[in-house]
Amino acid sequence: MFFFPIKYDEPVFRPPAEANSAILQITKGCSYNKCVFCEMYKSKSFSIKDFETIKKEIEQLAEFYKGVKKIFLADGDAMVLSANKLLSILDEIKMKFGRLQRVSAYALPSNLLSKTDKELKQLRENGLKLLYIGIESGDNDLLRFVNKGESYESSLEGIKKAHNAGIDTSIMILNGLGGRKYSYQHAINSAKIISEINPKFLSTLTLSFPFGIEKYKKNFGGEYIQQTLIELYQELRIFIENIDGNNIIFRSNHVSNNLNLEGTLAKDKQGILDQLDQAISQTASDEYSNYSGIL
Ligand code: SF4
Repeated sequence: MFFFPIKYDEPVFRPPAEANSAILQITKGCSYNKCVFCEMYKSKSFSIKDFETIKKEIEQLAEFYKGVKKIFLADGDAMVLSANKLLSILDEIKMKFGRLQRVSAYALPSNLLSKTDKELKQLRENGLKLLYIGIESGDNDLLRFVNKGESYESSLEGIKKAHNAGIDTSIMILNGLGGRKYSYQHAINSAKIISEINPKFLSTLTLSFPFGIEKYKKNFGGEYIQQTLIELYQELRIFIENIDGNNIIFRSNHVSNNLNLEGTLAKDKQGILDQLDQAISQTASDEYSNYSGIL
């Protein structure tokens, strides 16, 4: 049986890029926990671990993961903690792990807006180098329909604040979030905010329905019409085509995605668009063959 030095409060989520990181769970759940599309932490009530437990777990992880280069702070929005608490945790990590390259965490734009510029700079100086932020969309109608609790403006302001402090961001957009009816505005406004943010990393995930599409439709604030696979690819195509970015590392390698895409925007934009065009024609041709087979 695989031995693990600490007991996690399951389920624990981490971005694909943190597969080789030590996971330190400093909070449980998500303090917001109201996004209509998200079921990740519905089984947990939000709480913050006490500092003594965190200290002990840092020590156990450091012993177990000798030489590890990265630490990911879980769960859903570890950055909701005050800057003082985060700084004490980062100090402890530095002391026990030594040669660490980076500490990262999920964050909400509001977590960043609630901290001063000076606090964010101190966090950066103490090792916090990367934040994963699921802004999901740049479209304010959709953000309201899915009860995201953030807007185009709050996301832009919070993320710029992190960048000004020297903290890099990895931004996530949710393909299919608004269904067929809002697809175009989702793609265009998401491209617009990504162009303004110009994050270091960008990824897309595809909307899924772990508790059924009917539940999503019921809680979605607009009219949700499910998209076909071709429509999801077309939405992604409009999104990518309209990003005006510089050196954005794009990955679409989450388990929810039907197509793995990666490259640097704008350099590899045309290649990614070609891959999407190919996927669109291939899917159309597969659908035609299946349809002809039925006749
Ligand atoms: S803020 Fe993030 S973790 Fe929390 S409910 Fe929304 S999507 Fe889920």
